[in-house]
Amino acid sequence: MEQLVTSDFKLGIIAGGQLGKMLVLAASNWDVKTFILDTDGHCPASTCCTQFVKGNQLDYNAVIRFGGMVDMITFEIENVNIEALQKLKAEGKKIFPDPDALAIIQDKGLQKEFYQNNNIPSPQFFLFKNKAEIIVASEAGTITFPFVQKLRKGGYDGKGVAIIHSLNELKNLLEGASLVEKLVEIQTEISVIVARNRKGEIKCFPVVEMEFNEANLVEKLICPSVLEEKILQQANEIATQLISSFNLCGILAVEMFVDKNNVVWVNEIAPRPHNSGHHTIESVITSQYEQLLRAIFNFPLGSTQLKMPSVMINLLGEPNYEGPVKYEGLTDCLGIEGVKIHLYGKKITKPYRKMGHVTILANSIEEAKKKAGIVKQKLKVKSW
Ligand code: ADP
Repeated sequence: MEQLVTSDFKLGIIAGGQLGKMLVLAASNWDVKTFILDTDGHCPASTCCTQFVKGNQLDYNAVIRFGGMVDMITFEIENVNIEALQKLKAEGKKIFPDPDALAIIQDKGLQKEFYQNNNIPSPQFFLFKNKAEIIVASEAGTITFPFVQKLRKGGYDGKGVAIIHSLNELKNLLEGASLVEKLVEIQTEISVIVARNRKGEIKCFPVVEMEFNEANLVEKLICPSVLEEKILQQANEIATQLISSFNLCGILAVEMFVDKNNVVWVNEIAPRPHNSGHHTIESVITSQYEQLLRAIFNFPLGSTQLKMPSVMINLLGEPNYEGPVKYEGLTDCLGIEGVKIHLYGKKITKPYRKMGHVTILANSIEEAKKKAGIVKQKLKVKSW
């Protein structure tokens, strides 16, 4: 175990976005050498990793070549060439989480079948090959309105999801292999990040509540959740059951809905660091990044106890600005106690592009929310 840290051990991380960057920073605390595979030489992780490797994570040869350069592989994105990971695994490369679990999670249809086969509560669903099949099924009444259509592959941040209320809205269906599921009457969207190491030790991070904006990006994360203890417990049990059923080593973000009757449903999962764990850097004893490293290096998992309540807001590119980035309000916001600003280092801003995030720590959620409101007003991502 010890040879993994302060040594020549090389950890390969597939993709170097903000999640990759924050993982690199955590690894650097243990003097672990980090290699990043990304197409963009200016990606957020490029400035702090040990070695940047240019290549597309969807390209079989690029992933194989990258595998040959490192001792262990993990990823910060689901959209990775699975055949390459499976080949590397067959050749004995250590890859965590396991590519076989990733293959299921990459495909929302297989994900839903996995829930069904493992008694995980998730909205009832049907699989379709294309848009035409969904139209036939809805006209025949086999599926009833309102429903949610999700493309099986490649969706993110709400892209690849269509909510259909009536026959008139069938024109909004997306083309491609997809699943259709019941529209849940959502009371609150929550997330639990759960970690499991190779010995099978499991720990959940505190439940967070998520609020989304009009672009379907997380607007606000609130931790801890103020939902009833019974619901929180159920969410933790579901997350624990999921990571055990996958036999997964690493971390798993489990996004869930709590419906109007307080029933908890799994929406989707991601086997990697997640947006809904940004606040863990400051507000929990162990961050999600350190926990991922502990899990895949088979160290004991760290404490997930909350240090302080927090609210996290994303710093998104302002709608009317595109070009070289300019931040406004940094000095004012840094003057507010408990405000922790993270800038990802993206050079170009675009409307709603995730440029950074801010975690606001306070003695109570109410106080953190108040300060978050001020930060939101003052801190703006514009361009020159
Ligand atoms: P993505 O992978 O793009 O984030 P999600 O599956 O999380 O897509 O869906 C995006 C959003 O759509 C969710 O956060 C939720 O607000 C809404 N949504 C998804 N599925 C349902 C559902 N079955 N019922 C109600 N709302 C849903």
